[in-house]
Amino acid sequence: MNLDTDRHRVLPGIVPDLDAIPADDTGGLEKSAARKELRRLLARLDELQVMMYAQGKHSLLVVLQAMDAGGKDSTIRAVFGPLNPQGVQVTGFKAPSSLELKHDYLWRVHDQCPPRGTIRVFNRSHYEDVLVVRVKSLVPEERWRRRYEQINDFERLVHDEGTTIVKLYLHITKDYQLERFRRRLARPDKHWKFNPNDLVERARWGDYRSAFEEALGRCSKMHAPWYVIPAERRWYRNLLVTRILVDTLEGLNMSYPKPDFDVEQIVLE
Ligand code: AMP
Ligand code: MG
Repeated sequence: MNLDTDRHRVLPGIVPDLDAIPADDTGGLEKSAARKELRRLLARLDELQVMMYAQGKHSLLVVLQAMDAGGKDSTIRAVFGPLNPQGVQVTGFKAPSSLELKHDYLWRVHDQCPPRGTIRVFNRSHYEDVLVVRVKSLVPEERWRRRYEQINDFERLVHDEGTTIVKLYLHITKDYQLERFRRRLARPDKHWKFNPNDLVERARWGDYRSAFEEALGRCSKMHAPWYVIPAERRWYRNLLVTRILVDTLEGLNMSYPKPDFDVEQIVLE
C-alpha cells in the first residue's frame, strides 16, 4: 500500500503551521483497504515487539500529545491493545503531585522511560511542561523557555542509551473538538471523560496551537522525530501511527537472540 509517512514528519528546525495542515487527510486511501492493511501491520508490530522483548536490547518510547478529545485514548487502544501486555506499558501524565513539584519536571518522566525490551507509551508527557505550563503561565517564561533545549538534551540522552523515540501529535481542528465534546455530553458512558474545565482550555485554542507549533518545531530531531498525525479520520490515524511504529522498529534490524545451546543436541522424549 502506498503510504508516505515521511510527509507527516516535522523537519528539524521547521516550525509547522498547524492550521495549514488538513486534519481530515486520508492520504488518498480507501477505508476498507486501509483496515485490511492495518490488520497486517498490527500483526507485524506484534512480531517486532516479541523480537524486542526476546532480544532485550532496545526499547521504544512513544510520546502521544493532542488537544483535548484529540483521540489519544482511542489510539492507544487501537494500536497497542492488540500487543502482548507483558512488553507494553502506558503511562499517563496528569498535573504534577506535590511531591513531583518538589523535583525538576523531568524527574517523573525519566522514571517512566521504558526498560530494555519493552515499549512505553506516554499519554501526555514532558511536553506538557512547555504546553499547559506555558499557556497557563504555571512557571515564569524564562523557565519554560529553557525547557526546549533541556528536553532536547534529555531525549538525546535517552536515545543514546538505547531507547528509540517517536513523538506523535494527533491533529484535530477546533470544530472537530466541539463535535467530540458534544458526543461526550450526549453519552452518559462518556461523561467521565468530560471536564467542564476543558472549555476553559478550548477558549485558549490559539495559545495552545502556538505552543504546540513551537514545541514541534524546536524538538523534532532526526533521532526523536515529531509527526503531525491527521486524526479526524480514525482509520487513517491508526494506519499511519502503526505504519510509523513498524517502520521505526524495522529500522532497528532486530533479530531473535541465538540460543546458547545446540538445538540439534536437544533430545525431547
Ligand atoms: P487527562 O489527560 O484528561 O486526564 O488530563 C490530564 C491533565 O493533566 C490535563 O489537563 C493536563 O494539561 C494536565 N497536566 C499534565 N501534565 C501537566 C504538567 N506538567 N503541568 C500541569 N498540568 C499537567
Ligand atoms: Mg481531559
